[in-house]
Amino acid sequence: VARNPVEPEFHQAVHEVIESLGKVITSRPEYGDYAVLERLVEPERQIMFRVPWVDDKGQVRVNRGFRVEFNSALGPYKGGLRFHPSVNLGIIKFLGFEQVFKNALTGQQIGGGKGGSDFNPHGKSDGEVMRFCQSFMTELYRHIGPNTDVPAGDIGVGGREIGYLFGQYKRITNRFDAGVLTGKSLGWGGSLARPEATGYGTVRFAQSMLENKGESLEGKSVLVSGSGNVAIYAIERAQSLGAKVVSISDSSGAVYDPDGIDLELLKDIKEVRRGRVSDYVSRRRSADFRSGKKVWAIEEGEVALPCATQNEITSHDARKLANNGVQLVAEGANMPSTPEAIDIYNTAGIMYAPGKAANAGGVATSALEMQQNSARQQWTFEKTADKLDEIMINIHDTCLQAAEEMGEPGDYVLGANVASFRLVADAMVEQGIC
Ligand code: NDP
Repeated sequence: VARNPVEPEFHQAVHEVIESLGKVITSRPEYGDYAVLERLVEPERQIMFRVPWVDDKGQVRVNRGFRVEFNSALGPYKGGLRFHPSVNLGIIKFLGFEQVFKNALTGQQIGGGKGGSDFNPHGKSDGEVMRFCQSFMTELYRHIGPNTDVPAGDIGVGGREIGYLFGQYKRITNRFDAGVLTGKSLGWGGSLARPEATGYGTVRFAQSMLENKGESLEGKSVLVSGSGNVAIYAIERAQSLGAKVVSISDSSGAVYDPDGIDLELLKDIKEVRRGRVSDYVSRRRSADFRSGKKVWAIEEGEVALPCATQNEITSHDARKLANNGVQLVAEGANMPSTPEAIDIYNTAGIMYAPGKAANAGGVATSALEMQQNSARQQWTFEKTADKLDEIMINIHDTCLQAAEEMGEPGDYVLGANVASFRLVADAMVEQGIC
């Protein structure tokens, strides 16, 4: 804490991992001898830079850019870029730290990193977003590369932004390094099923958790928060498995639709018009909008899939979920549950999968995009989606097995932390003190 003041999210993420590792650390003295933990919590490199750009009125604006290259024990740094006004170094460090473990779980030989900016894309014109992205890449390009560090999207960074970033990278370096960014458009190196991957993967993970209890998603009602990339494709997959999704949200409030979310309408509002969830209600009779509220108070739902942002489920919200009979929480977002909320899930017997396991499908499919780029191939949707399913089932089983080994069957947090830590720590020991 003294070394990293005012980084509460980073402390929270580190605490949650270290808390799980007591038995593992004592079982292997070389982890202590090689100071694995001390090295793990210190990013290999942190880059902060000025991002000046000119708005549509001709005024110069200045944002701050970040790239935290956290750990490369298992492969090149890999992790998204977030453009959101709440971004600061502590947020990027928490995301980068989580990414190290998540990426290990995918088995795809990728290290962990994260980046972004406090730039707010809401309300900006295409031209402004483009000029911002070009300025951001004008500094970032020197730090990244297909075998060094491979950024992708996250909150506020989708296909449009990746396109502008890639264009500027190519222009500065004079190289068509398709593998330098993932989440690209299909026509120039993108992967089929990448837009769907995080949401689909989260639902696949939830399905495995239910199957393990002899249940399925069919006929269950589901609460989803957020209305961005992860939320939309979590809804699509859950509906295809016969679940009824009854909510969406954004930072302005929550929508409850007891008839089930109309996915085509939602996609039109979010993907075509870049609108808000309140627009959904004006075009759908069965739905109501709860301004400033969260979806967790809705008194319907057996499964909860938080797909918006960190710490969106507090102890107060978790109590509501428990009282309303939610049986399972699988995190599409990164660290959406506070530690107090997780305690409530445990006390109430709610099955709980942390983001680093449940939302790993996005980065796993980004690694599949890198494979396709290296081979100059494009796989079919089915091939990529099947591989994604295989990876998610494998992560699920790995977590369960590690938890069982630790004497805590069904503890996905413990299982995810232990299984991923071992992979990263062993590589760090084998690679010496670096
Ligand atoms: P998007 O930008 O596409 O969507 C984010 C959604 O969350 C929007 O509906 C947004 O609403 C809402 N949101 C963001 N911040 C807040 C806030 N402070 N309060 C309430 N709502 C908020 O991002 P993604 O869907 O890509 O990402 C969602 C989550 O999933 C993040 O935690 C991200 O790190 C995680 N994730 C994403 C992956 C991916 O492949 N995209 C991979 C793994 C994890 P509004 O528009 O009002 O801000």
